Amino acid sequence: MKRIYLDHAATTPLHSKVLAKMLPYFTEEFGNADSPHAAGRKAVNAVDSARDTLASLLGAKPKEIYFTSGGTEADNWAMLGCAYAQKQKGKTKVILSSIEHHAVLYAAEKLQNEGFEVVYLPVNEGGMVEPNALKAALDSNTGLVAVMAVNNETGVIQPIQELAKLSHEYGALFFTDAVQAAPYMKIDVNEWGVDMLSLSAHKFYGPKGVGALYIKSGVKIERLIGGGEQERGLRGGTTNVPAVVGLTAAYEENAATVFETNERCRCLNELFLQAISGLDGVKINGGENRLPAILNLQIEGVNNVDLLYKLDLQGICISVGAACASASVLPSHVLLAMGRSQKQAKESVRISFGRENTEEEILQAAALFVETVNSLKNL
Ligand code: PMP
Repeated sequence: MKRIYLDHAATTPLHSKVLAKMLPYFTEEFGNADSPHAAGRKAVNAVDSARDTLASLLGAKPKEIYFTSGGTEADNWAMLGCAYAQKQKGKTKVILSSIEHHAVLYAAEKLQNEGFEVVYLPVNEGGMVEPNALKAALDSNTGLVAVMAVNNETGVIQPIQELAKLSHEYGALFFTDAVQAAPYMKIDVNEWGVDMLSLSAHKFYGPKGVGALYIKSGVKIERLIGGGEQERGLRGGTTNVPAVVGLTAAYEENAATVFETNERCRCLNELFLQAISGLDGVKINGGENRLPAILNLQIEGVNNVDLLYKLDLQGICISVGAACASASVLPSHVLLAMGRSQKQAKESVRISFGRENTEEEILQAAALFVETVNSLKNL
């Protein structure tokens, strides 16, 4: 049985070109980037060059890029590190959207437990944060606002530029989790007007366990991981050279093909929807402004976990929401925030396309999807 992988929002396969660029740094060029000798210099040169390239692709300066162990660490760090630094200035309020990834929600809960005032912004039925909702929540005590660029469950794109501008009008800093945006959107941190932005390599055909946090020059942030003086003293730990090289190589490759990737996903998305159009009771979760790579569907009368496992037995990989939360039986907090009922949320699945998917795969997956949904409805 051939596997058909339609869960690219969970992770993507490592690109062969990226692997080739990483390999030498596992073997012959294994030096520690902090060592002053020739082996160390080779390693630090690779890290510096990766930082320069990534910075220029994001419209940032190299000293504004910090490498982390992934999106989760970057999100935790932006939220906690920035909130703690803002507290020094007497600002103890944090605003975030109610549809953030658990890595951001976790940090917000922690801040709340530590005495910060934490406000969760609602989203509209289409899954978008309305600028007016942010305006109503902002005040001079707000130190930090966090809204993700693209939601990982629905693919809904958020009005980041407008939200960042509003936050600045009230003197607050603005952080965006761009983990799901990065594979499909051209990011320019200045155009977006953000103060911090997180990335994770494995979402754009890079390695797992490496991410980056952009921190605008002048923005103060406390460090969470201490020890060595790596990452300009703000994040201790021996640099994972092959991973950093891989992250940048993957981002570079991705940035060069972002338009084609989107167009390809748009075709595959339309093909899938067309092929399942005979099914009754199917609704798309999310408004018009969505990435074509992510399709979140509610199928009336069908339990999403049953559908996931039945499809898995036939080689089709989809998900019931964020991979990080898929072990839980709780309905998606994102869909609940969009006004879906518990029942509707438990009838929803996420299908996410990738540039290596073929039309044949989509048609085959769609046919099995229709057959499986019908068999579950008849049970
Ligand atoms: N933010 C978003 C929006 C994500 O989708 C993910 C990955 N599920 C993360 C953060 C966490 O990234 P990582 O897997 O690199 O820890």
